[in-house]
Amino acid sequence: MGLIIYLDGQYVDEEEAKLSVFDHGLLYGDGVFEGIRAYHGRVFRLKAHIDRLYESARSINLDPGLTREEMTQVVLETCRRNNLKDGYIRLVVTRGKGDLGLDPRKCPRPSVFCIAAAIELYPAELYEKGLELVTLGTRRNAPDALDPRIKSLNYLNNIIAKMEATRAGAPEGLFLNKEGYVAEATGDNIFIVKNGQLLTPPPHVGLLEGITRNAVMELAAGAGIPVSEKVFTRHDVYTADECFLTGTAAEVIPVVKVDGRPIGDGQPGPITRDLIARFRELTKTDGPEIFE
Ligand code: PMP
Repeated sequence: MGLIIYLDGQYVDEEEAKLSVFDHGLLYGDGVFEGIRAYHGRVFRLKAHIDRLYESARSINLDPGLTREEMTQVVLETCRRNNLKDGYIRLVVTRGKGDLGLDPRKCPRPSVFCIAAAIELYPAELYEKGLELVTLGTRRNAPDALDPRIKSLNYLNNIIAKMEATRAGAPEGLFLNKEGYVAEATGDNIFIVKNGQLLTPPPHVGLLEGITRNAVMELAAGAGIPVSEKVFTRHDVYTADECFLTGTAAEVIPVVKVDGRPIGDGQPGPITRDLIARFRELTKTDGPEIFE
């Protein structure tokens, strides 16, 4: 037996979890999603993920057809049915089945599905040694075209960028916006540390407002580390004392080289290490329990 999937009101075996080829999520990337983690039997920042899902949906004028509370219960129940205590959860709302045209008015009902599965992690040594970034030629989606704050099913900008990074031999790439300011990585947010201060670009630069990002900003503030959102360029990254990425899958991961330049002394820095430890602690207590 495979995974138990929630699909449109039912829990079914993954072999039976099928959507129409006329679903506009597939035909046009018309839909929104969340990637969520379960740690130690709790769903990390579940409320923040549900809220972001509904904001993404609101932005594209998509009604998920479930209340936020019902959606929350879908996530928890999908974890329970798969006996999942630690893993990765994918929650998706598509525009639903329509015709071959673009018009969402032809899609009477959205589809909602939820997958709770094991997670493939970055190798543990990357958290010890840090990773290398390359600047991407591919620019981040302009917010006035498709705002990256919408976590939509259209991830082509990210996929093209990810291919560019891996072709260059780096596990992640650095997206600039069309003005050349630092935005984020292909699937993670970026932070730099300079003179004991933590900086990350503000959302209007064009980036997904990550839930891990927000958690790390809170952790830093709680630890007395000054943290601010600031527009900056690659020069600030190259001359930073420390750099790291944040994301649901990657958690907090050090960056030790960017475009061939070592960051700081080329090792994960003390503030990065401290925040990794604080983040790991937070995952033990944050979010609702799956098995109450
Ligand atoms: N930016 C992009 C483009 C992403 O896809 C993700 C992963 N969802 C992030 C940032 C990090 O966001 P979060 O911490 O909410 O996972």
